[in-house]
Amino acid sequence: MLDFLGSLERTHHCGDLRAANAGQQVVLMGWVNRRRDHGNLIFLDLRDRSGIAQIVLDKELTPEGHLKGEQVRPEYVVAAVGKVRLRGADATNPKMPTGEIEIEATQLLVLNDARLAPFSPAEEAIQNEEVRLKYRYVDLRRPEMQRNFRLRHDITLAIRESLSNQGFLEIETPILTKSTPEGARDFLVPSRVHPGEFYALPQSPQIFKQILMISGCDRYFQIARCFRDEDLRADRQLEFTQVDLEMSFPRREDVFAVVEQFLAAGFKAVGVTLPTPFPRITYDDAMRQFGTDKPDLRLPGLTDVRPAFTDENLATLQIDPALPVVALRVPNVGELSRKEREDNWPLFDQKKGAKFIDDFKRLAKGFAEAAAKVRELAGAAEGDFVIIVAGDPAHHVKASDTKFEGRLSEREINVYAAAGNFRTELSKKYADRHGAFDVTEQTVADAHEHSAQDPMDGSTAFHPIWIVDFPMFEYDLASAKWVPAHHPFTSPYEADMANLVSDPASVRANCYDLAMNGMELGSGSIRIHRKDVQQQIFKSLGISDEDAHARFGFFLDALEYGTPPHGGIALGLDRIVMLLAGASNLREVITFPKTAKAIDLMAEAPTQVSDQQLKELHIRVALKS
Ligand code: ASP
Repeated sequence: MLDFLGSLERTHHCGDLRAANAGQQVVLMGWVNRRRDHGNLIFLDLRDRSGIAQIVLDKELTPEGHLKGEQVRPEYVVAAVGKVRLRGADATNPKMPTGEIEIEATQLLVLNDARLAPFSPAEEAIQNEEVRLKYRYVDLRRPEMQRNFRLRHDITLAIRESLSNQGFLEIETPILTKSTPEGARDFLVPSRVHPGEFYALPQSPQIFKQILMISGCDRYFQIARCFRDEDLRADRQLEFTQVDLEMSFPRREDVFAVVEQFLAAGFKAVGVTLPTPFPRITYDDAMRQFGTDKPDLRLPGLTDVRPAFTDENLATLQIDPALPVVALRVPNVGELSRKEREDNWPLFDQKKGAKFIDDFKRLAKGFAEAAAKVRELAGAAEGDFVIIVAGDPAHHVKASDTKFEGRLSEREINVYAAAGNFRTELSKKYADRHGAFDVTEQTVADAHEHSAQDPMDGSTAFHPIWIVDFPMFEYDLASAKWVPAHHPFTSPYEADMANLVSDPASVRANCYDLAMNGMELGSGSIRIHRKDVQQQIFKSLGISDEDAHARFGFFLDALEYGTPPHGGIALGLDRIVMLLAGASNLREVITFPKTAKAIDLMAEAPTQVSDQQLKELHIRVALKS
């Protein structure tokens, strides 16, 4: 039989009680985490958001409470009234923050019962994620999840405060709107009032934030929900949250300073310092040194080992002498058997026109000097796994060879990217052996003991880096066309504008990415603020005047009404939280996420709708049953 709450008021949270509270009369409310029945004594671990306290139901002291204690089960909701007392020396539990005390109950109210869920929040690890997602309300009770959304709150609050202090106004933009060109598929919402017409959910607030600059708002930010109909990955959800901002009259450096400040504030709020300013690298150098535009600085980069080989060596090894020859090194992997090496082969991207040599023993037989030199150049210690990646003349990709003074060609980029991907994949696979990620895991674990007042050093665990000077266009192998590497409002470098149509490959974009520990955290750019340039960009992207007008006419119009130079950026909030939570999937830091198959298992969405709803929306479903 259940009790009413009546006039009972909670006095404390379970996790907050300490030895200093001994002797106090308290009222606690929460969920039964565990129950242990010792006959005349029943122990309940009572859990709320703050933690767990032990309740003792003594048959002598409270026969009624003891009786109820016999009936309660895990996840029942109860209120306990009683006195805090110190546990005996042999009963203290140093692993629990409240381990020195317990509550000698004089009354227990059972406020609600609970069905037996397929798992208990008291369990450490639950294997089946689908079950977790279906019973998300139970899953979210787990201390680990409670910690994650507390972390998310603290980070978000600090970011808001920092941006507000830096003169940014938080402004909302529409959810029901028109397509934004971020390169993904739109989610469409049919209009009941306008038959056959659709709103699109924003892929980002991009156009609106630019219009806010035209509106004289000067500095805008929003913790903005964005929607992109893409295939899901560990770091990608259909809807996600960006810290989105835009500012008027900025230089790139101004945007960097704003971001560095708010990100450092977000990290500090959860007890970790992030030294500023962040280092910078050009896109070309990032490709040369890491083979990716989101480098993980915790691992050794690529080494140019072309000098280790003579031209004859390369000819015999069937390596393209005109393309990069690089070594990647994964420390401390130890010797691998042929079988082990073969298992790695599928991790190499075959489509980049590159090949690899991972059998050093064999290489050393034919090319002793070169093999030794490669290991020397790569700084390889005894147990380090070294792989050479180079252009494969037998598999030339159809890429552009256009080459500009000091810049990489598409084909070179492909070889570096093949090496970079392989490096990333192998580093993940052999994480236990090289241990380069341990410092991050350790920092995340230790940060719980720290706060904004007493933050710990995060400089070895987190490595932010700005990537700058991206090419404006990239060559799309499938369509054999130059396609924009960024959204079409990104400004080219003023110096490169003359080449937009004649030499697209040479044009650099005035945009920037922020990467951290191998993950892209955000990207932004200085925007086009002149209509003539915007039109030219659309033209070079093959978007006709009519098409541009139909899709972004309102924006092109707005550009003509006094547009200030402006620029901005958006950072993935979920990803920031994921890094600081030490999570490997966004689902751990989003309360109600979708599965990899784009389903909300708890709400059971998406779902069919009634014929009446379809009719109102003027929609007929053309599915063959
Ligand atoms: N709208 C861009 C994005 O969502 C960010 C930006 O350019 O500010 O990636």
